[in-house]
Amino acid sequence: MSTRFSHSRVEVFDRCPFKYRLRYVDGLDTIPNTDADNALILGTALHTGIEEGVEQALDFYKNSFPVLTDDHIHEMMKLEAMIPKAKAMLPPGGTFELPIGNADFIGFMDYLVPVDEDLSGKTEICDACPKGDCGSAYTGSCPCGKFTARSKDTFDLYDFKYSNNAKNYAVSGQLHEYKYWYELTHPGHRIRNMYFLIVPKPKIRQKSTETLSQFRDRLQAALKDAEPTLMPVQYNPMKIVDFLTDVKHMVEATDFPKNPNHFCGWCEYEEYCQKGWDYMLLPKNERRDLNATKKKVVWLYGAPFSGKTFFANQFPDPLMLNTDGNIKFVDAPYIAIRDTVTVEGRITKRKLAYEVFMDAVAELEKKQNDFRTIVVDLLEDVYESCRVYICDRQGWKHESDDSFRAWDMVRSEFLNTLKRLVNLDYENIILISHEDRSRDLTRKGGDKISSIKPNLQDKVANKVAGMVDLVARIVADDDERVLSFKTSEVIFGGGRLTVRDKEIPLTYDAFCEVYEEANQKAAGAVKRGGNAPATPAPETTDTPTTAPSRRGRKAKTVTPPPAGNYDPAEDAAKAACGDPDGTWTPGGGEKDDSVPVDEPATGDTPPWNDLPKCPDGERIFRQHDQNPEIPLCPSIDAGHRCHKEGGPDGCPLWDRPKAQAEEPAPKTDANPPRRTRKKREE
Ligand code: SF4
Repeated sequence: MSTRFSHSRVEVFDRCPFKYRLRYVDGLDTIPNTDADNALILGTALHTGIEEGVEQALDFYKNSFPVLTDDHIHEMMKLEAMIPKAKAMLPPGGTFELPIGNADFIGFMDYLVPVDEDLSGKTEICDACPKGDCGSAYTGSCPCGKFTARSKDTFDLYDFKYSNNAKNYAVSGQLHEYKYWYELTHPGHRIRNMYFLIVPKPKIRQKSTETLSQFRDRLQAALKDAEPTLMPVQYNPMKIVDFLTDVKHMVEATDFPKNPNHFCGWCEYEEYCQKGWDYMLLPKNERRDLNATKKKVVWLYGAPFSGKTFFANQFPDPLMLNTDGNIKFVDAPYIAIRDTVTVEGRITKRKLAYEVFMDAVAELEKKQNDFRTIVVDLLEDVYESCRVYICDRQGWKHESDDSFRAWDMVRSEFLNTLKRLVNLDYENIILISHEDRSRDLTRKGGDKISSIKPNLQDKVANKVAGMVDLVARIVADDDERVLSFKTSEVIFGGGRLTVRDKEIPLTYDAFCEVYEEANQKAAGAVKRGGNAPATPAPETTDTPTTAPSRRGRKAKTVTPPPAGNYDPAEDAAKAACGDPDGTWTPGGGEKDDSVPVDEPATGDTPPWNDLPKCPDGERIFRQHDQNPEIPLCPSIDAGHRCHKEGGPDGCPLWDRPKAQAEEPAPKTDANPPRRTRKKREE
């Protein structure tokens, strides 16, 4: 099967073939990392902010987490300060998120802007007097002092990086590849200058001696001093040779060894790779019949006596794994998850609660029973028992005896066992927690607001939210009890599914109805090539070779040649590079014959927006999606515009409708198709 290569895919292979295999060959996704400083979410928020505005960036950032903490507020303060500074460094009038590529390559340009050409000494009128009626015939001296015009074919390219390590990008081939493929697929166009816009991330921590407000003052001062920089990149054709060599190695690879490197700390597979833990791996990214999926995995939380256990008891044939003995108002059979003591002769044996829990999971895995619903009540107690078990096993009194490893060890043991539990082959898996309102969020303005979340350590809670279909809160108001799916910056939420009704009666039937609807919606999204998770997908994740496109973008194809000895591949190649003689070098030629101006004309649209759209574009892309063996027409861009000389009318490949109506030419998109940044894949 043919694959379109991207910078990120090849870079991953280059850095670590094992990671490449997990991500692109095996198609393994992971539970998203929801740390406040998640580089992927921050990077996406920065891009959103530069393109759409600070408010949109903060909305995106906030909605990327199950619940916010003070750390999230600090990251939002950074975004709020840095986005306007970054934006101010870009010349106006360009296009954001421009997809580029052809049958072999795919990429997205962060920002492409036409340059302003110096018209001094030329006969053209300047952009200050488009009608030439300013009263002064052009004689080489313009009363407005303007001698520039927006270029139709020469551009500057910008890529945004939210990073303190500018030097990493100095050696990157990314912009070189973008320039090469852009010029290859846009004959006559040229990228003049390339820049990385490096936006620094002030990294300061709250000292134990300072209050939150003192820390925030210090953070604001650091943000005031921090300035984005533009790092120019000189085009080097050898970068393309390197890229293609890497592609060759990648395509030929049969062995994918691990390559531990200093990026391992950012690798989503680090724990799986280095410790063998697999709780973070999501099911393989391949299509399932979601309509046929009946299993429900739900996490319920609420105040004590709000009716959580009572609600779980309504599910069919339940078995409760109960930790708190609060079982007397329900009739479900249960296993008590607590320490048990047995006496054999003169020997007293203690079995820890967590061992009882693990035995129960192992027994349930055998599936030698008739239960249809497994309930864990309460989840935080199981976590606590896991902590005791690990301390006992390691001979520690407390995690602080080996603080470097202990927290990690407890968390991974708990999550690995929990993953076995949620994978059990039963109709319903229900996790129950108490809610915790003891922690405050301090907003930027200083006002405090209580967070409502499950009573589980944040890091663990965020992972659990990634394992379940739905997180729901049970709200009891006097006698009225409802199941609430409302989330906000201070109300914890998450899960694979999103529901329309935010509050429903606390009954099994109402829940099944909502669940069914949410599942159908997710099934529809997957069928359309969408991505259902409520949490964001990694920005640099390429589509695995076997998986459907997660961008839902259109792909391309070519119909068979209409006649005899016509060779579409040859025609397409020539059309693509606009070079029938084969003498033109894409990416070559760096003569800088233009100058910057103070204020380029606004409202200009990039010249490729004037190109006609291919009337056959939909079908061409769809056909290539279905069968990537069918090559794409290299004259079509991702926005379905035809770059062939003469446009679609001169195209011998276009599968014209038999009785074609007299219609005006298809309207050209004012904006090229935009990807959703969180679904971005190259
Ligand atoms: S942790 Fe390091 S060695 Fe392992 S897959 Fe990730 S990058 Fe490769």
